[in-house]
Amino acid sequence: MQQRPNLKDHSIEHLRELLSAQGHVPYRADQIAGWLYQRGIDDLDCMTDLGVELRGSLAETWDARALELSGVDRSQDGTVKAVLRAKDGAEIESVLIPEEDRTTLCVSTQVGCAMACSFCATGALGFSRNLSTAEIIDQVCRMRDISGEERRITNVVFMGMGEPLLNLPAVIEAVQLLIHPKAFAMAPRRITVSTVGLVPKIAELLACAPINLAVSLHATTDAVRDRLVPLNRRYPIADLLDELRRIEFVNTRRPVFFEYTLIEGVNDSPEDAARLAPLLAGIPSKVNLIPMNPHPDTTLRAPSEQAIDRFLRIVAGSGLRVTLRRPRGEDIDAACGQLALRKLGEALAG
Ligand code: SAH
Repeated sequence: MQQRPNLKDHSIEHLRELLSAQGHVPYRADQIAGWLYQRGIDDLDCMTDLGVELRGSLAETWDARALELSGVDRSQDGTVKAVLRAKDGAEIESVLIPEEDRTTLCVSTQVGCAMACSFCATGALGFSRNLSTAEIIDQVCRMRDISGEERRITNVVFMGMGEPLLNLPAVIEAVQLLIHPKAFAMAPRRITVSTVGLVPKIAELLACAPINLAVSLHATTDAVRDRLVPLNRRYPIADLLDELRRIEFVNTRRPVFFEYTLIEGVNDSPEDAARLAPLLAGIPSKVNLIPMNPHPDTTLRAPSEQAIDRFLRIVAGSGLRVTLRRPRGEDIDAACGQLALRKLGEALAG
């Protein structure tokens, strides 16, 4: 199926150029962005200040909507998971996480994932394709439709399905739209991109804006990380951390958020906890412990409460900033690593 180009795939600057090449005033691009991103309207017929003629000619060539809502599930804790369908029928999941002082949207960057991390449900799906910029951005638009005015999305994390750095051009364009004053006008520090550790792409990502970087570490030795994150065989821990040290040194930017999924009997020993601080020396770090969320494709489990607590205390005692990420939306399979397009409602039934 031949797809029409989508307005949301283009930066506002590029739209200005396209429109002026066709004899329109470039400012029309700013007006279009106002409708698409600020007012959340993507029906070209409704863009009344564009004039009938321009509206007509735009509608002949362009699409402005990339994703339709296919289903929504609400957790008892307020977390909302949505399945969104692209024009080619591909489906992805986005998760909205309301907290006291913020509302975070977790977006996907690929249909499935090629990284095959052994503890992740998306990894078990395999990889289908990259999402376009419009498909990344439309997750924000559709989820904003759901969350409404009173629950404004304040933070966006690229932590849904897929590996963002394997779809870097689209991810960077999406970040640019999120922070553009004429589009979503978000502060860069409210955006976080999480990577499994694709070393050669990290600097390029961070050069695009002062956003937060999250790195999925999950282990303190290559032997263990090789098993959990197959990409580690190509970019081992030392290479990853050396690159982060190099970037930090150049940019003195914000701390790196290290995600550490705690798995019983695999990476939860006191020795692991004690190894973290020396390993991360020289990198401004925050460690985020995530007790393993269970899913049907794995027998791996979270450690006991005591083991988690012990791990946390050792890490904190070694001087690192560390937090424990409480699972959100567990009852609807919306927690970290659970996004695998299981039928909505299924988890609630058992
Ligand atoms: N591919 C990127 C983006 C996904 S982010 C990355 O790996 O960083 C999703 C986060 O949830 C990652 O830190 C991932 O390792 C973690 N995760 C995956 N499966 C999980 C599970 N079953 N329980 C807890 N965390 C998990």
